[in-house]
Amino acid sequence: MPASHHKLAIIGTGPAGYTSAIYASRANLDPVVFAGSQPGGQLTITTEVENFPGFKEGILGPQLMDEMREQALKFGTLIKTESILKVDLSARPFLLFTEHEECTCDALIIATGASAKWMGLGKDLELSRTGGGVSGCATCDGFFYRGKEVAVVGGGDTALEDATFLTKFSSKVTLIHRRDKLRASKAMQDRVFRNDKIQFAWNKVVEEILTQEQTLPSGESVEKIRALRLKDTVSGAQSELVIDGLFVAIGHKPNTELFQNQLPMDEAGYLQVEKGSTRTGIDGVFAAGDVQDHIYRQAITAAGSGCMAAMDAEHWLAAQGLVE
Ligand code: NDP
Repeated sequence: MPASHHKLAIIGTGPAGYTSAIYASRANLDPVVFAGSQPGGQLTITTEVENFPGFKEGILGPQLMDEMREQALKFGTLIKTESILKVDLSARPFLLFTEHEECTCDALIIATGASAKWMGLGKDLELSRTGGGVSGCATCDGFFYRGKEVAVVGGGDTALEDATFLTKFSSKVTLIHRRDKLRASKAMQDRVFRNDKIQFAWNKVVEEILTQEQTLPSGESVEKIRALRLKDTVSGAQSELVIDGLFVAIGHKPNTELFQNQLPMDEAGYLQVEKGSTRTGIDGVFAAGDVQDHIYRQAITAAGSGCMAAMDAEHWLAAQGLVE
């Protein structure tokens, strides 16, 4: 027997989840939000966010997410720290299972996000969290590398787009790719080949991130990237590349394992939504944020689609006669 029933449940607490919670609670839908394994989402593992409108001095990613959480709580959102481990969307109301309980909901917003893939070195993820000069988002962090030398890892559209974008700030961008052919679209390739600030390290993988201690004006000491030890995938030869910053662009993985065989997804696992809306393949289930967007992937676009999902859910619940 389910422990509780909710008009609307939201899974995920990144900008999409919290924004949908703010809109839904203001619309008296009494949403319950399940925070999941990474409360606050990807922004909690970044440092300064300078491109979220409304914060002209910038704001720390974790602080921005705390503000969104407080705003959702203020309007009466119920936030649960548990993760949803299983869902059953085959009949309504939908069933959600945590480790200890199950509950039902009339409408569901999925905002479980995506996770950047890292190289599996350990240090890449660690330095991205501590502002040590590694990033998974050029749009977010490129600005900090004005006049500096950076490297981008990857050979897909994201890596090439990032490399091109970074040349606006950096004096030199080295694209490190594990093969000698790029995966990216021809148009994107033409752009990077024309850009003389971009150099190529073909057939190379990052073996090690080399760091040094740096003392901040506050006196605090931080570990910062200094160089990369590269290995040639053909000859096995090792080399060192001195850089100020590293951007990892080897793809993202949408967090959609829970919905396998229940909701339509594209071949990379992103949830498919009806164009111009957040409606998924199941009536009453909506998707917002990076879990359904592999192109823009920005906090502000996730927040925007969270707003859309709450409004779509509200209209759907009203059309079903489940709310006034
Ligand atoms: P992709 O999966 O297309 O590319 C990932 C790249 O990273 C590949 O070149 C891959 O190498 C490399 N890679 C993967 N794992 C590793 C690893 N462990 N070590 C080193 N290199 C690795 O991801 P993207 O994020 O680039 O693109 C995702 C989707 O989004 C694509 O469909 C893309 O077209 C689309 N996109 C479109 C844009 C646009 O139209 N403006 C902009 C950005 C993305 P290899 O090639 O050897 O497999």
